Amino acid sequence: MHAIIHFASNLMRGDATHKNVFAFNGGVHPLDHKAESTTRAISKLAIPESLTLPLRQHVGYIPKVKVQVGDHVLKGQMLAEAEGTVSAAIHAPTSGIVSAINEQVIPHPSGLPDTCITITPDGKDSWQQLHPIDWRNTDKKALVDSLRASGIVGLGGATFPTHIKLHTNGKSNIHTLVINAAECEPYITCDDMLMRERADEVVRGIEIVQHLLGAEKCIVGVEDNKPQAASAMTSACISNDIIVKVVPTLYPSGDARRLIHLLLAIEIPNDKRSTDVGIQVFNVATVLAIYRYFVFGEPSISRIVTVTGNVAQPQNFEVLFGTPLQSLITAAGGAKKDTTHFIMGGPMMGFDLPKSPVPITKAANCIIAAAPNLFPTPPPAMPCIRCARCADACPVNLQPQELYWFSKSDDFEKASDYNLFDCIECGCCTYVCPSDIPLVQYYRYAKSEIIVADKAKEAADLARERNDFRLARIEREKLERAQKHAERAQVGKSDIKASEASTPEVSPENKVSSPHAGSTVSAATDKQAAIAAAIARAKAQKLAATPTTAPSAEPVDKQALIAAAIARARAAKLAATQAGLAPKNIDGVSAAVQTEINETDAIREKAKSSVEPKILD
Ligand code: SF4
Ligand code: SF4
Repeated sequence: MHAIIHFASNLMRGDATHKNVFAFNGGVHPLDHKAESTTRAISKLAIPESLTLPLRQHVGYIPKVKVQVGDHVLKGQMLAEAEGTVSAAIHAPTSGIVSAINEQVIPHPSGLPDTCITITPDGKDSWQQLHPIDWRNTDKKALVDSLRASGIVGLGGATFPTHIKLHTNGKSNIHTLVINAAECEPYITCDDMLMRERADEVVRGIEIVQHLLGAEKCIVGVEDNKPQAASAMTSACISNDIIVKVVPTLYPSGDARRLIHLLLAIEIPNDKRSTDVGIQVFNVATVLAIYRYFVFGEPSISRIVTVTGNVAQPQNFEVLFGTPLQSLITAAGGAKKDTTHFIMGGPMMGFDLPKSPVPITKAANCIIAAAPNLFPTPPPAMPCIRCARCADACPVNLQPQELYWFSKSDDFEKASDYNLFDCIECGCCTYVCPSDIPLVQYYRYAKSEIIVADKAKEAADLARERNDFRLARIEREKLERAQKHAERAQVGKSDIKASEASTPEVSPENKVSSPHAGSTVSAATDKQAAIAAAIARAKAQKLAATPTTAPSAEPVDKQALIAAAIARARAAKLAATQAGLAPKNIDGVSAAVQTEINETDAIREKAKSSVEPKILD
């Protein structure tokens, strides 16, 4: 034991000078307010009267609900399963009845309601059958796949589904695992207390993650304002190769890229991820959740939450997800009278909770009761004096004052050109600004406007694409219809040609009189005549089938005859004209044809006289 303490103290002494630690640009030193909540051990909160579990507790798609109102569920039972690639499951934090699935206000900056599953506990706290996994003797891919059902997300506040970060597709290029134990935001102490009290479990979790990633090296980064946590971790790591490095307290050293820089002197380019250079980062609380899932089969149903600020007894609690915020505040001795509101997360990057009751979710690492003495109302913003203090404090090496001007003037294109989306919203620029300009709020506004505009453009592009597709479809259908008509017409012509030989309506005289019978001209003429006759017959049939327009059978027959005769006459006339062989009268029509025309006219006159009075009736 003495040896361990000696080793740890040596290591601490060595690291107190921050050897082999590589400072990043910028950063600030706000008052950390951590001591208040670290005087008491982590306490387990009692099961509340009801648990409200929002489906939206992580980055990605909301999970698919698998239960119905009235169902009895066991502790650890899956209530909603991960849907899509980036998603996480939700589990019952205790046994009880599903009493509602409806919209309720959730802890989110928007303050809007979202779908939640409410469980009314039965008081038995009965676990479902748990299935621990022998992770040392199980295929890595199967292990990572099984994590999809664990509901574990990044518990440092990012809430990114953990199984995604461990997917390597069988060819991991990760050589270094970085464990983020910096916890740089003021007030938050949940990771600090976790390391102090459960360092062994954290280290077992690190071993599992290291195994899954195939990382040869592992470094734990702890800020030097957590000496007890650093010491506990160093002791727990004594039998393995995990390195615990103490880094200077400087906000935002807990940002993954800043921590990598501090520990490894590697600057990750803004357009790349840490995994592109072989480094993966996990939070200490997340690796502990992974350990409990594989070793005990427990899904993610609780987390450590710091309750601090204007409460009677600031403390850390192990809290079931879905626990009402008020239960937590009560457990911390209640909020003092002058409490104005509650903040979720730290004072630098957290957000104000809505006044309505909200539950504790996977992202809730800290709840701060705010009061005027702790968070005075900021004075009105003054004009920017171009002092460039914001640029000096920016850990991402941005030009915050320029981003401010572009955001304020809605020049979003310029803001994007100045790498607005590289801003991690750490708030260092706002913290140092002598003009008290709420810079981060301007950046959030600009980002949201750009995102909305991009979405609108995407929707417009989609609509245009759909319209183009619709027009192409209409054009295609038109062509198909035209083709069908052409085919039908072709078939009709063939039928007519076939019937031509047998029909008596085509004058044999015309055929005989032509010395060029069988020639192209004659064939075309015959065809036209046959078509005309067929059309006439069809018209006659149609007319016969329409009693309202055909006053009697007699005129119909006559009209048909007339039409047929006219058609025959015209065909004959055309044939004669084209052939140029038959004797012509003054109209250029053969005698036979003329005769037929005359007959036709006579019939037409007769028909007229017989039809007209009937129509008048
Ligand atoms: S710190 Fe404030 S006043 Fe100074 S340049 Fe930046 S925005 Fe302007
Ligand atoms: S909020 Fe953005 S611009 Fe301001 S210091 Fe942080 S990273 Fe830089």
